[in-house]
Amino acid sequence: MSLIVQKFGGTSVATPERMFHVARRVARTRRAGHQVVVVVSAPGDTTDELIARARQITERPSPRELDMLLAVGEQISIALLAMALQEEGERATSLTGWQVRILTEPVHTKARILDVERGRLLDELSRGRIPVVAGFQGVTASGELTTLGRGGSDTTAVALAAALGADVCEIYTDVPGVFTADPRLVPNARKLPYLTYDEMLEMASSGAVVVQTRAAEYAKLHRVRLHVRSTFEDTEGTIIGEEPMEPVRSVNAVTHDLDVCKITVQDLPDVPGVAHRLFGVLAEAHVNVDMIVQTASRGGRADISFTVSRGDARAAVEGAERVARELGATKVESEEGVAKVSVVGAGMVSNPGVAAAMFGALAAEQINIQMISTSEIKISCVIDAASVPRAVRALHRAFNLEEE
Ligand code: ASP
Ligand code: MG
Repeated sequence: MSLIVQKFGGTSVATPERMFHVARRVARTRRAGHQVVVVVSAPGDTTDELIARARQITERPSPRELDMLLAVGEQISIALLAMALQEEGERATSLTGWQVRILTEPVHTKARILDVERGRLLDELSRGRIPVVAGFQGVTASGELTTLGRGGSDTTAVALAAALGADVCEIYTDVPGVFTADPRLVPNARKLPYLTYDEMLEMASSGAVVVQTRAAEYAKLHRVRLHVRSTFEDTEGTIIGEEPMEPVRSVNAVTHDLDVCKITVQDLPDVPGVAHRLFGVLAEAHVNVDMIVQTASRGGRADISFTVSRGDARAAVEGAERVARELGATKVESEEGVAKVSVVGAGMVSNPGVAAAMFGALAAEQINIQMISTSEIKISCVIDAASVPRAVRALHRAFNLEEE
């Protein structure tokens, strides 16, 4: 007998029919002799609709009240799914984050999970009941309700799996797994049977939106084995774990991210402390900076370009303009028509020439590279956004990703 955490996303519980489909899926696992803990997201677009309702009242809702409102979505799912499970002849108990006691930091709208109490869950399991737990929500030590950031139900599922020592955490979603590239751009993209935590993390942070980044981090930290798979198709999905699969390929996937804004500060004095000043101001403004490039100095001046997500662009430009005035830089320019393409693979560490192959594939398509950044297992290039489909297809071909 195994203990399995099964997480179902919003589309999987959007209608009563789907709710029953999910209930039958859970019941099947139960009847195969396993213990199951279920985590669910809010149905369909409920979270977006709740945010829209808050906006009808105020443009700046208090984060505490917003959490109070958003936590409602998941509560709808757990109650309805528990009813559907009961209709299927199973014993099930719906539980909110605070009933379980999923303890988080005292931060609203993006709290991190600090600890999960196991008592209530173990009690339900020992009585042969299926706990159906609300994703995305927790409670602080002082009893305040919190939420975990968009897509946070994945993190709830991983945290429960870690706390209970589950054999696997299954993430059920509307796609059959993680692909070598976005199948909407690359028709012959392949479902990957296996990925390492690091590959999943690099993919999540470079535009692949299969698992919340924080969930992948938590899974890595606590060595929770993930299985990303389809709610609607009865197929094996993608396993995410520790060890790279043999034989190791240099590149396993191509990702792209259109949520990129490039900002350039021109003619900054090329003296010590300038980068510190600029990025210190951006850090204070909670701007998350991705890539950074500085040009060679000419006449004691240099340009610094960096990228941020579009949501952070305004705060980044404001911060950069302040520093530019202070240091006598001539201009701050922001550009939205750019995007990032990346190649990711744990095998890069031991295979030289990946960067050259990537640049070669882009050159053959006459695509200009504006910025480059690398990690041990990822290479990213900023290019013009309109070239993204061509770039992704060319890279997929260059690294033979369509082949098994
Ligand atoms: N319902 C939340 C959201 O839409 C959490 C989740 O779906 O995981 O972001
Ligand atoms: Mg959702």
